[in-house]
Amino acid sequence: MTEDTQHVIDFADVRRQDVGLVGGKNASLGEMIGALKPQGISVPPGFATTSDAFRAYLAANGLNERIAHELESLAAGTSSLQEAGERIRKLVLGGAWPEDIAEAIKTAYRNLCEAAGESDVPVAVRSSATAEDLPDASFAGQQETFLNVIGEAALLKACKRCYASLYTDRAISYRNIQGFAHDQVALSVGVQQMVRADTGGSGVMFSIDTESGFPDAVLINAAWGLGENVVQGAVDPDEYQVFKPFLDNRDLSPILEKRCGAKKIKMIHDRDGTPRNVPTSKEERERFVLDDDEILSLARQAKVIEAHYGQPMDMEWARDGVTGKLYIVQARPETVQSRADMGTLKSYAVKDPGPEILRGLSVGSAAVAGRVSIIENAADIARFVDGSVLVTSTTDPDWVPIMKRAAAIVTDHGGRTSHAAIVSRELGLPAIVGCGNATHVLHDEQDVTVSCAGGEEGVVTAGISKIEVSEEALDTLPDTKTKVMLNLANPSAALRWWRLPVEGVGLARMEFVINGAVRIHPMALAHIERVTDADARAEIKHLTAGYESLPEYFVDRLSRGLSRIAAFCYPKPVIVRMSDFKTNEYADLLGGRDFEPHEENPMLGFRGASRYYSDAYRDGFTLECQAIARLRDKMGFDNVVVMIPFCRTPEEADKVLAVMAEHGLTRGENGLEVYVMCEIPANVLRAAEFAKRFDGFSIGSNDLTQLTLGVDRDSDTLASLFREDDPAVLRMIEMVIDEAHKAGTKVGFCGQAPSNNPAYARYLVEFGIDTISVTPDSFVQVLRNVERAEAGKEDVP
Ligand code: PEP
Ligand code: MG
Repeated sequence: MTEDTQHVIDFADVRRQDVGLVGGKNASLGEMIGALKPQGISVPPGFATTSDAFRAYLAANGLNERIAHELESLAAGTSSLQEAGERIRKLVLGGAWPEDIAEAIKTAYRNLCEAAGESDVPVAVRSSATAEDLPDASFAGQQETFLNVIGEAALLKACKRCYASLYTDRAISYRNIQGFAHDQVALSVGVQQMVRADTGGSGVMFSIDTESGFPDAVLINAAWGLGENVVQGAVDPDEYQVFKPFLDNRDLSPILEKRCGAKKIKMIHDRDGTPRNVPTSKEERERFVLDDDEILSLARQAKVIEAHYGQPMDMEWARDGVTGKLYIVQARPETVQSRADMGTLKSYAVKDPGPEILRGLSVGSAAVAGRVSIIENAADIARFVDGSVLVTSTTDPDWVPIMKRAAAIVTDHGGRTSHAAIVSRELGLPAIVGCGNATHVLHDEQDVTVSCAGGEEGVVTAGISKIEVSEEALDTLPDTKTKVMLNLANPSAALRWWRLPVEGVGLARMEFVINGAVRIHPMALAHIERVTDADARAEIKHLTAGYESLPEYFVDRLSRGLSRIAAFCYPKPVIVRMSDFKTNEYADLLGGRDFEPHEENPMLGFRGASRYYSDAYRDGFTLECQAIARLRDKMGFDNVVVMIPFCRTPEEADKVLAVMAEHGLTRGENGLEVYVMCEIPANVLRAAEFAKRFDGFSIGSNDLTQLTLGVDRDSDTLASLFREDDPAVLRMIEMVIDEAHKAGTKVGFCGQAPSNNPAYARYLVEFGIDTISVTPDSFVQVLRNVERAEAGKEDVP
């Protein structure tokens, strides 16, 4: 050892390239403290012991040879992993601190206490291995962490235990599998002033959407107390998502998602300082851990950190319960999406799924069918049947060997940033986490299908279903003159389409978002006193708990649901159509029965424009308008275009536009465009008059075919007569395209016809349509057919 060997280094003096000296974790902490403080990133202060100190410790205690000997006997098969591991750990723990190293640690600790103005400041003591957290080796948490360590003696003991944790059974086997030489890996201990998250909160944050790789959304998970529960997945945390591009504008609040997690437990400190889990209060369970300002502040920090490192990042954060201040306590590169193959888009579809058994948060977008293998605790992992669906309460690094051999993973607890979720994502397995009671409801050897293909919620269904997988190469897609857009209905799955070269969203049916994200009739929220059904009232009370008012629930849920659709292709246009339920469908919403008349022909009844200015629905429409205004003005999604469905006359159009203007949606103001559906023959026959009132038409072939041919679109008996390529229907379409263009108005197409039959796109191209909007599964085929039609070539069969 030379005179100037450094045993301890202050985080402020560490830089990211110091991985060999202090390990990846500590190097990135130092980097943040040194380089990002001026940009508003708060990292608790601390110091790290160096790899030199670790090597000196081994040498001074003569441990190198003895450890090598134990590893040799493991390799030779004369001792088991458990035996060799235990003996090595004992050797390391039994060593004595060389005086100079102990002194260096104690001095650094005293300096930390002095700076904090406390005599024995509590610290978090974390292991940072010099080969951990490399992009290819991110099986997080291989080594130990000790929280709330107080005083010099306890600190030295914790450091020794960190050293020993370089030789846990799983760390040894992990290095064997990864091919890391044991003596090439050293251990640095990070000592960081504790954030009082025991009385505050903490969690995990990613600078991208972990499921789709969408680069413009930050994902934050949050729970009460210390962060270990979120990392391990022992708790079902809150989940928030924020749209990054708008974060620099302090007037906007671009929070795409706020989901309140169950948060049944929290980790606090015992009187002697030992961390311990306790149940949360009802109030804590029902309340969000972070308020909007805190969510935005953390997301801004994620953006700064990502920009600094020049790559997507995975971070841990904590909020001090005493000062309320937010800190970043860890940061490392995100490893899954950043390595994913961006050239292709794989989609899964489950054919004829069986009855639903369970649901939870989906990880990834894959689906798989298989047999259940329930493992309740790590001691039983030998019982796991290879290739089966692993069902468990939660996982930790001990579970990785069987997770690698699983077809899918289903857990009772945990959020999208839990250990189970992170490892599943790395392994490319579908996983459903936080199901609540998977280990109770499912049984061993049960045949199930696990699907994450439907968006944010994953579903386990009974039986082995067929799964169709399609893979599209994205780099060979043509650029066409007639642009192709998407029809989207599911906000939770919207982000996954970000890599498709879409021109925007041609139709987002608001009623679908109301059904999924709101579930309550807007009139029932505006006039709860008129809801007579006691069960519905109780359910409404339950769903709206925590919201400042019932109308606020509607506006909040709807604007956030729509925001995900508006975000994935921003700034391309997203056409949101105001609600177009039929009376029977409105009546099926919670509390809906008291507000809807019975109609013999709902398809021809009180729907679309006629509702919006009527006394019977006006207050409901007000809430729809408020949600759109919030989405555009407060959240920032000025790419949202409003569309009016089923507008029978130009006079109706005038009334609706006037009501919208009363609620801050004036056509032409703040760039607001308003479209009208062309789906009634009257829209075609009076196209010139409609064109004066709107910025564009969107042709709905479903209703237009029904009303041109007089064929009920839902009738099985008449299905063969329901033809969108009937000459009468095609004539209608051609007429309205001509009229619209004569008036200088845009005209697109959003009916189902080209989605069902991509060859239909040829008619539209030949008539000179401006845009065609289709469901995501048919996007690529339609795009290719548009290209061929534009080039005057035959369709690809
Ligand atoms: C249509 O009528 O073609 C249309 C797109 O609207 P919906 O199917 O929602 O009635
Ligand atoms: Mg329609």
